[in-house]
Amino acid sequence: MNVIIKQQLIESVAKKLIEHADELTALDQAVGDGDHGLNMKRGFEAILADCEAHAAKPFPDMFKGIGTQLVMKVGGASGPLYGTLFMAFAKEVTDPPTLDGACKALGAAIEAVKARGKSEPGQKTMLDVLVPVHAEWSSGGADLGKRLLDSAKSASESTIPMKAIRGRASFLGDRSIGHMDPGARSSQLMIEAIIQVLGES
Ligand code: ADP
Ligand code: MG
Repeated sequence: MNVIIKQQLIESVAKKLIEHADELTALDQAVGDGDHGLNMKRGFEAILADCEAHAAKPFPDMFKGIGTQLVMKVGGASGPLYGTLFMAFAKEVTDPPTLDGACKALGAAIEAVKARGKSEPGQKTMLDVLVPVHAEWSSGGADLGKRLLDSAKSASESTIPMKAIRGRASFLGDRSIGHMDPGARSSQLMIEAIIQVLGES
């Protein structure tokens, strides 16, 4: 895959999460310990600093390297979980990637996150965005980028009425209801940033 596109993907995702750090912090203040914004900012600043080195690698190695940095730098629950997502994606994806192959790789990566987090969709986590977006992608058809954007947005919003069953927010029980899950929002932001580079069609 073209080095320029890989650089654009990394920069787009990293800058998006850095820009939204305060919002992610506020979401995590409502249902957690308020560190999700800073956790993601720290991780993606490190990734941005190594952007050229990451982009110079073959596609799977790029994801493996980014996943490793997420585990080391993000911390919290989300660091190992996002790290698992990226590293498991790296194991399946090809260089150059195909649309179908990347979709299957995301499916495998989601299964790895479920196993690592002992979690399922419906528990108010990042999986509540990743799983429906993957399902939409799997269904194929026209206007895929636009549909994935819409799916990610409604999926993150769908976490508002959910009661948290996993992660720190689960300590709040019913009081977790009425707030968007911070990890669902950060997953939505990643998807938006990727589609901004690859286009909506
Ligand atoms: P911590 O909860 O350790 O402070 P963060 O605040 O960085 O870590 O991340 C919290 C996010 O991680 C949650 O909003 C949720 O989306 C995600 N998360 C937490 N536990 C799990 C889990 N078991 N499975 C999937 N996602 C999880
Ligand atoms: Mg937190």
